[in-house]
Amino acid sequence: MSYQLINPATGEPMETIEHASIEQADEAIARAKTAQAHWAALAPADRAAILRKFAQVVDADLETLAALEVRNSGHPITQARWEAGHVARVLEYYSAGPERLIGKQIPVAGGIDITFHEPLGVVGIITPWNFPMTIASWGFAPALAAGNAVIVKPAEWTPLTTMRLGELALEAGVPEGVFQVLVGRGSVVGNRFVTHTDVRKVVFTGSTEVGKTIMRGAADQIKRITLELGGKSANIVFADADVDKAAAAAPSAVFENAGQDCCARSRILVEASVYDRFMEGLEKSVKAYKVGDPTDEATEMGPLVTAGHKESVESFLGDVPIAFRGQAPEGPGNWFAPTVLLPKSNDDRCLREEIFGPVVAVVPFKDEAEALELANNTEFGLSGSIWSRDVGRVIRVARGVQSGNLSVNSHSSVRYSTPFGGFKQSGLGRELGPDAPLHFTEEKNVFIPHD
Ligand code: NAP
Ligand code: MG
Repeated sequence: MSYQLINPATGEPMETIEHASIEQADEAIARAKTAQAHWAALAPADRAAILRKFAQVVDADLETLAALEVRNSGHPITQARWEAGHVARVLEYYSAGPERLIGKQIPVAGGIDITFHEPLGVVGIITPWNFPMTIASWGFAPALAAGNAVIVKPAEWTPLTTMRLGELALEAGVPEGVFQVLVGRGSVVGNRFVTHTDVRKVVFTGSTEVGKTIMRGAADQIKRITLELGGKSANIVFADADVDKAAAAAPSAVFENAGQDCCARSRILVEASVYDRFMEGLEKSVKAYKVGDPTDEATEMGPLVTAGHKESVESFLGDVPIAFRGQAPEGPGNWFAPTVLLPKSNDDRCLREEIFGPVVAVVPFKDEAEALELANNTEFGLSGSIWSRDVGRVIRVARGVQSGNLSVNSHSSVRYSTPFGGFKQSGLGRELGPDAPLHFTEEKNVFIPHD
């Protein structure tokens, strides 16, 4: 089995990538199991040094990685560079992990009691196509820091940067078998991570639908899982906010990466009294949003990842009135102009389902209570923004929105030093932040008597 990659900006066929079989997955898991024992036995400072070296090698390769992501995924070059740099920063941050997996000494009668954070063993990481290298690093860096071996299965549409990271790991001195990249279908290689008893944890980022399948499968072995799934996040703009600033910032909060972002603020809720003023500002900022050739330094948004995905995004444009659209190139490539919808009902599909494209729906609200009700009227709960100058309101609304990651008067992107993950059907568990290595360990308690 193989898959022919196509450049999303030009429609030109590129590399054909061979897909691994179940047998090859089993061989990789066996290699990882053997390699993990040696990796975990290394002195913590030595593991830390290798991870720091891995970060340096990624930094040195930044332009190559960024160019690969432009070609394979259509990400604008400035964003692709940020993504490659982010991988290096994540590795640096977790390179401190091996020496900081500190247990406890607990007072007990008759002896001492101490805890250890033992690595799980082999960890399988399944990534989606929207942010191939950054999302992989959120799993592999803390997992490696905690003494695990990892196998990353990238999405079949976007394997190139992950494959390159596999080469860079070896170049950096990560021992063979400790960090492997296995390209293959989700239903074959990804599913093998779920069914194979030597894979002790599966980190999955992708659709809620596949996440549920993984969770069901993991039950057979009580396998550890982290799930980062879909989103339908709200950008809530109150009348007491800097409305012009909110309108100017709204496009990048949903159109970045062409809306193929689980944190996309794809629902804008605006207090009715400032609705007209907000829409005027939004129209200006949407029309000014620079969509085009991803190799151009000035481009803010590239094409959608595949022609098939473009069709799926188009399916949301049916009967819903369109307020206005931005611009996009004509001709070959999966281009889609940023689009602002005005749904008539709260049950409209564009307000309930994740579109994963440059489409945003605007809904007016009358007061704070209604804003919260609308914001929480979704099965998802990943991200969101609150625009207001009233500190009390900001605190009330931030506590009231059922979502894992909120930003106030801004649309902050993910930070590696703070926890990230979803409420409700947006996921299970947290990635990133200071505690991430612990999520790749089992806590062991040992009692040693005095006599
Ligand atoms: P997807 O279809 O769920 O696929 C994600 C990954 O799972 C791919 O590598 C896919 O492999 C694999 N997969 C598919 N079926 C599988 C199975 N039965 N067992 C094991 N693995 C399987 O999602 P997508 O279409 O790539 O990505 C878009 C979704 O990801 C959106 O819903 C988005 O919200 C979500 N997402 C969430 C976050 C977050 O952090 N919360 C971040 C980014 C994206 P193949 O495609 O190669 O077959
Ligand atoms: Mg898919």
